[in-house]
Amino acid sequence: MELVEESPYRFRIDRREPMRVPGVVFASRSLLPDAGADKSLEQVANVATLPGIVDASYAMPDVHWGYGFPIGGVAATDVGHGGVVSPGGVGFDISCGVRLLTADLDRAELRPRLDALMDGLGHATPRGMGKGAVWQLADRAELDAVLRGGSRHAVERGHGVARDLDRCEDHGAVDDANPAQVSERAVERGAGQVGSLGSGNHFLEVQAVEEIYDETVATAFGLRAGQVCVMIHCGSRGLGHQICTDHVRAMEKVMPRYGIDVPDRQLACAPVSSHEGRAYLGAMAAAANYARANRQLLAQAAREVFRRVTGGGLDLVYDISHNLAKIETHDVAGVPRPLCVHRKGATRALPPGHPDLPDDLRPVGQPVLIPGSMGTGSYVLTGVAGAPAFASTCHGAGRVRSRKQATKAVAGHDPRRELEAQDIAVRGVSRRGLAEEMPAAYKDITAVVAAAEGAGLCRRVARLVPLGVVKG
Ligand code: 5GP
Ligand code: MN
Ligand code: MN
Repeated sequence: MELVEESPYRFRIDRREPMRVPGVVFASRSLLPDAGADKSLEQVANVATLPGIVDASYAMPDVHWGYGFPIGGVAATDVGHGGVVSPGGVGFDISCGVRLLTADLDRAELRPRLDALMDGLGHATPRGMGKGAVWQLADRAELDAVLRGGSRHAVERGHGVARDLDRCEDHGAVDDANPAQVSERAVERGAGQVGSLGSGNHFLEVQAVEEIYDETVATAFGLRAGQVCVMIHCGSRGLGHQICTDHVRAMEKVMPRYGIDVPDRQLACAPVSSHEGRAYLGAMAAAANYARANRQLLAQAAREVFRRVTGGGLDLVYDISHNLAKIETHDVAGVPRPLCVHRKGATRALPPGHPDLPDDLRPVGQPVLIPGSMGTGSYVLTGVAGAPAFASTCHGAGRVRSRKQATKAVAGHDPRRELEAQDIAVRGVSRRGLAEEMPAAYKDITAVVAAAEGAGLCRRVARLVPLGVVKG
């Protein structure tokens, strides 16, 4: 894959047939994926062939190989000009995302109670592939309420406070969910998992604010140095996965009818305005609401543990998805147009002044929550005005080693002991599960965030370090 270096943090893949637009990769030279082992840059070029795509097919600095689209990919299509929606541009874990809460407590005050807190959180957080969840829903009607209401429904049922919703993307729920487009199989897989982490990469982490880069913005977000936080990363479990599977299949069948030809069948897609496009978006919105309710329930369970162990509460900083397609208005050649913006392993980053931000955050911009790894650290960023890529940035450090390679790399090590030697408490997961998720499995989060900032996608606000992790 031929890359043209436009600036230190921006590389271009020139347009060639059948690409409709160029590819743009935001990264430093050393972060670029290794072409031998990772085909994500070819995927960036493949995405550039999608009908209706505007501007460019973008990759964030954490880009790596995914299903059809790369993880760390952003692509927008023009709804009024045959633009398509592709389930592969959202991913299997629909609306997987991150939520950050702050405790009114400093890390030194927590120290003597950290073990008790971690025991409590380990116990209160359903996780793994098993069936446990905060809610066991009795029937389809109860699940439909989750699919329509997201975090709002969880709060109505007493799992949270009204202020939480002010700090959720879309006020806690996407409006156009269509549960009728969610298959029975998806319902079966999801009904027993509302309020559960899932496995592997998903986690609930107790963290401390290690460094502040922008005092004004950090204060507006409710963050101060030394403060204890909780970060939750999870998604839509088996329900989202099944929805992706179902709708990829449905679109594969109708692509010839719409005259759509893609270089990789994993790029199955349909026009946004077609029956299949709307069906997918309705089901995707339902899964998005499921994921939001999921994070709301886990946050409320964590609050109860905090109250019991520390006597204090947890305030929501923000809840944001990093696997989603949204219809948004953006300027294309100076004209505002409705676009279907796919962010897959990429985070929306609204700039200061954006009308979709709550009043108290509007002057400073949207909190952008970036997990790094359980052994290194994580970041809080904010959006900047005039950014490229439809107000998007990275979503994490990004994998550099497959689960198998990561396991090999730590052979002969004891991951749990190594984390504990760094004073990071671990609850849950097998030795193998931990090995797959060690810092060596991921890119250097500090370098990724520096590249994202250097490329003008976002600005750093704070760095968080792990005190204890509950892994799925
Ligand atoms: P993904 O959504 O692609 O599965 O994961 C997002 C990011 O989360 C990964 O790229 C990685 O940087 C980060 N991550 C995975 N596990 C952990 C963890 O246990 N703790 C923290 N802080 N970050 C993690
Ligand atoms: Mn996920
Ligand atoms: Mn995720």
